Amino acid sequence: MSNKHVYRFGGGSADGRADQKALLGGKGANLAEMTALGIPVPPGFTITTEVCTYVSEHGGGYPDSLRDDVDAALARVGELTGARFGDADNPLLVSVRSGAPASMPGMMDTILNLGLDDRTVEGLARRTGNPRFAWDCYRRFVAMYGEVVMGVAAADEHELLPFERLLEEKRAARGVEKDSDLTADDLRDLVAAYKVEIKQATGKEFPTDAREQLWGAIAAVFRSWGNPRADVYRRMHNIPASMGTAVNVQAMVFGNMGDDCATGVAFTRNPATGDRELYGEFLTNAQGEDVVAGVRTPEPIAELGKKLPAAFRQLVEVCTRLEAHFRDMQDIEFTIQNGQLWMLQTRNGKRTGRAMVKVAVDLVREKMIDTRQAILRMEPGKLDEVLHPTIDPRTRPKALAKGLPASPGAVIGRVVFSAAQADEWAKKKEGDPVILVRTETSPEDIHGMKAAAGILTARGGMTSHAAVVARGMGKCCITGCSALRIDGVRERMTVLSDQGEVIIKKGDTITLDGSSGEVFLGAVPLVPAEMSPELGELMHWVDEVRRLRVRTNADTPADAKTARAFGAEGIGLCRTEHMFFQPERILAVRQMILAEDETGRRGALAKILPMQREDFLAIFREMDGLPVTIRLLDPPLHEFLPHSQHDIAEVARELGESVERLGHKIVSLTEANPMLGHRGCRLAITYPEIYETQAQAIAEAAVAAAAAGIAVHPEVMIPFVIVPAELRRLRDKVAAVMDRVFAAAGRAIPYSIGTMIELPRACLVADQIAPHADFFSFGTNDLTQTTLGLSRDDVANFLPTYLETDLLPGDPFVAIDRDGVGRLVEIGVTRGRQSVPGLKVGICGEHGGEPSSVAFCHETGFDYVSCSPFRVPIARVAAARAALESKK
Ligand code: ADP
Ligand code: MG
Ligand code: MG
Repeated sequence: MSNKHVYRFGGGSADGRADQKALLGGKGANLAEMTALGIPVPPGFTITTEVCTYVSEHGGGYPDSLRDDVDAALARVGELTGARFGDADNPLLVSVRSGAPASMPGMMDTILNLGLDDRTVEGLARRTGNPRFAWDCYRRFVAMYGEVVMGVAAADEHELLPFERLLEEKRAARGVEKDSDLTADDLRDLVAAYKVEIKQATGKEFPTDAREQLWGAIAAVFRSWGNPRADVYRRMHNIPASMGTAVNVQAMVFGNMGDDCATGVAFTRNPATGDRELYGEFLTNAQGEDVVAGVRTPEPIAELGKKLPAAFRQLVEVCTRLEAHFRDMQDIEFTIQNGQLWMLQTRNGKRTGRAMVKVAVDLVREKMIDTRQAILRMEPGKLDEVLHPTIDPRTRPKALAKGLPASPGAVIGRVVFSAAQADEWAKKKEGDPVILVRTETSPEDIHGMKAAAGILTARGGMTSHAAVVARGMGKCCITGCSALRIDGVRERMTVLSDQGEVIIKKGDTITLDGSSGEVFLGAVPLVPAEMSPELGELMHWVDEVRRLRVRTNADTPADAKTARAFGAEGIGLCRTEHMFFQPERILAVRQMILAEDETGRRGALAKILPMQREDFLAIFREMDGLPVTIRLLDPPLHEFLPHSQHDIAEVARELGESVERLGHKIVSLTEANPMLGHRGCRLAITYPEIYETQAQAIAEAAVAAAAAGIAVHPEVMIPFVIVPAELRRLRDKVAAVMDRVFAAAGRAIPYSIGTMIELPRACLVADQIAPHADFFSFGTNDLTQTTLGLSRDDVANFLPTYLETDLLPGDPFVAIDRDGVGRLVEIGVTRGRQSVPGLKVGICGEHGGEPSSVAFCHETGFDYVSCSPFRVPIARVAAARAALESKK
């Protein structure tokens, strides 16, 4: 720890700088920077974060020199303002403000007007000739100090603070509405009443010595760093407790001295849209917190130009300078005292995804930053908001309930409680979107999910079936909304909310915000998604710097088309099983599964073949010129089996079997652990005709595409391989079929056959597998499940505890587990390329669209990532950021 504990600012110079946020906190560092820039800032000083750490390590004690340093700094502030701290005639008043290096709600509230007591208040009244003002400051100070430092609290959360209650009573007794209509005498009475309240509540006298007040406030700031609210916030945001907070002590300026005074907050650009306009609010004759406290309704900032034009011009000029200096949109606090502007805070403003893009691109156009800086300023995950419709921020109501933000975007729709209803309603009620509400979803709900505009489940986590499928479809989804009690039989649900118990019936309209997890009653106004011109321009820069290619996971032509519009450079994963679930096909699929022998299976497969061919042809058409990786059948067969009596009877009839026999067969196919059961390439090891048929469909579709002038690049992917011989055997069969089809058609269509690496063993023997593979695609969903021994569908009961108690740094199904899964992937890539130099490597798990995982893929030397269509732009940006970061 250095022995400089106090950094001064004021009179045009400052000890600190903007880049000293770790030492001075964000607020203190920028107050210093603004002062040095010659911007009007009330003088003051910052006690460093090192002192905070010292205090907590020394049981509340301060470093030796601190008191003298503070006294000297206070004296200097007095010189600059022409007043003296604690002086009865000409008192210096200060604010005491906490300020951590990272923005930290939950810390101590700011105390204003410190230094007032029964003597100095008279001095202030005389000096300003404004007793009302002096007593207004005093009563504010006593209330703030009583609450924040001395701990006076409301009786319970429904009660007002005693100070607020007394103020209200006073207004009522005097018959006035606004605080500003109370007289000096009224305020004097209030101060007395506040003090009595403090004495009663705490047993202590309100301190009348200015220095005692100051040290009380400083101690309270340091104490608040350790309070439970701050602690919770730190945990949530991974802020280390060792960081500490600074304390800022600053001369007061007064927005409450009369009508030529004001206080306000503003953004230098619109934080919702990014538009270049001053955006904010102010109140005349008011102080500090009044604007946000909602005591009076503030006025839009443009009004300030009419009321106090000279100060407004100063403000606009300061904003321009701040932006030019910090090269970013600023969020500022200011006060105007007798027509003179004072700046009290500036920081880079928080903004929506849309504003993030617009501001960065505009700043490049304004030559304030370069394109690389613009890319580095993107939080890729935030682009989600830009790519989906969102709730209009201007008219956002209060939510009815909240679940997990599983898949972003916002939708309005009518509630239905089953997949069949979703299907039916979506067809019948033209133009009326439906929202599928389920306790949980399962693969059988796929067609209903497809038909629905949004999905809401009462159970399940961020990686539940509903969440994963919805994200894949780019569909808004909220999971784990535990306030829902769904009664599927009566077709209604009860929502337990703070608006009481609300009953929602089939057909009622609700709105989902998948970006926040909030559920709203009725139709809430939305704003549409658009690839804005700014986003288009940004993507251009992004594509110039990234090395990773970005493909998409798409099972349908519609998905492929969307993804292409978002810049996908091919399909990295086309899952054929989703095609199997279509209602008109499922019967043939079931016949295939339940057939007694190969002939029976081939008969059923012959029905599936032309349908698959059409599917592939349509996808090749959309992806003209780009590679398409098709994964051969992967899921356990029993997922396709009929469950309802009705479905079983239908299949039995079709197969000419008895319902009973079929029932037995279904039972015999049931697996104890299907995730590790008869699935993936094991299906084709036992029933090669399945993959042969799929290979034939792919090859015939490729021939048809080529005949139609489409540039087609099929890549066949064999899943769930554990030994090289599996891949060799199946590869030979697939290649034989494809070669035969191409030879018969007289076309030489280049294709490749690769494998998914999704089991730990496959990573470890990648050197043996690689010679049989034209490419590796890491299936990190299964690899995560099998590496951690975690079933993705069963983690909801315990994973939250692991995350809350820091046993795991994050959900391994969301961001790749670098230490475990990541190591295996590295081994897989390294060994694979040891035996086949230059082997093409990609990823097709959910991680392919998650920014930190994309960075991992860049670092590990992948050729491409593949992700759901709506995440393609996010992956492009993440890839570009990774490329820039690795050059740093
Ligand atoms: P927060 O971190 O909660 O924004 P601040 O320390 O920025 O807390 O201050 C809270 C309010 O008090 C703000 O409106 C700020 O402008 C005002 N304020 C802080 N210091 C002063 C001061 N020296 N003079 C006048 N107003 C002040
Ligand atoms: Mg502030
Ligand atoms: Mg898999």
